[in-house]
Amino acid sequence: MKLPEWRPTAPVQRLNLYWLANAGVEVAVLRLDLIDQQVSGNKWFKLAPYIEAAARQGAQGLISLGGAHSNHLHALAAAGNRFGFQTVGLLRGNPQLTPTSAELEQLSMELHWLGYGGYRGRNLPGFWQPWRSRYPQLLPVPEGGGGLLGAQGCQLLVEMVRSQLDQLDWPDYHAWWLAVGTGTTLAGLVLAEAGAHPVYGALAVPARHGAQLQISSVLTQAQQADQGYRLLDAARGGFAKVDTLLLDFMQACEAESEMLFEPLYTAKALLALREQVEQGAFPRGTRLIFVHTGGLQGRAAALAKGL
Ligand SMILES: *Cc1c(COP(=O)(O)O)cnc(C)c1O
Repeated sequence: MKLPEWRPTAPVQRLNLYWLANAGVEVAVLRLDLIDQQVSGNKWFKLAPYIEAAARQGAQGLISLGGAHSNHLHALAAAGNRFGFQTVGLLRGNPQLTPTSAELEQLSMELHWLGYGGYRGRNLPGFWQPWRSRYPQLLPVPEGGGGLLGAQGCQLLVEMVRSQLDQLDWPDYHAWWLAVGTGTTLAGLVLAEAGAHPVYGALAVPARHGAQLQISSVLTQAQQADQGYRLLDAARGGFAKVDTLLLDFMQACEAESEMLFEPLYTAKALLALREQVEQGAFPRGTRLIFVHTGGLQGRAAALAKGL
């Protein structure tokens, strides 16, 4: 496989919402959802170093794993389709037709459904062995594009924002705010900031999923102190749990800001931000960067769940 030469950048745009204006808090959104129709959101940035490693090793593609609505597998399949490398997806649960799984097949990803028990084994030693034997020509990528490589791929987001501050007429910003799943994207920002600005992570998954541990582990591997960030609970009862208050809030924000969000990550992060802002966590004049991590490919299915 060849090394893709694609280097997408995302615009930074002001977020106009009355509850931010009331509190005198300014927010600009890094629109990772806009980098591409198919290869969207933070997932490309986490995948890019793995794709690069695969190309350098002379691999023919990548193999990874995720759920039936996985934004990560979707981005991987779309990248493979676009740049001409083989992709294999190991899926959680029993074979099921979802908008995402249908699209994975259309994008020529080869799918294997592992069941629920089989998928639970993904962190056990020896999980990858049979898949490595079956697909020796493919590079395995951890769930969600996690690990140090994935985080390093997100470091460039900091420069992407800094280079656009002029256009916002901002001398600087005070902190980052984003949704957290594995914590890989957050870890990349923390690495690049190296203490210059704090990073707030709104947990879209329950704490027991181990984002905190994964972040610590990435920072340790990079020999950086385990600091410079704060995690807040934003899961609202669990990953992919959607409630009316959340959906109403999301739709109101979409109408007012003219941006689209999705309920599983970005709307939960935004709602957690509103709670903090209304509790006075940020003084007037605070300028925040909110990362729109994408996920819009799964928006319709996520919305349907909440109805
Ligand atoms: C995967 C995903 C996240 C979580 O990113 P991590 O790097 O795993 O923390 C956040 N938002 C969206 C839309 C995602 O698809």
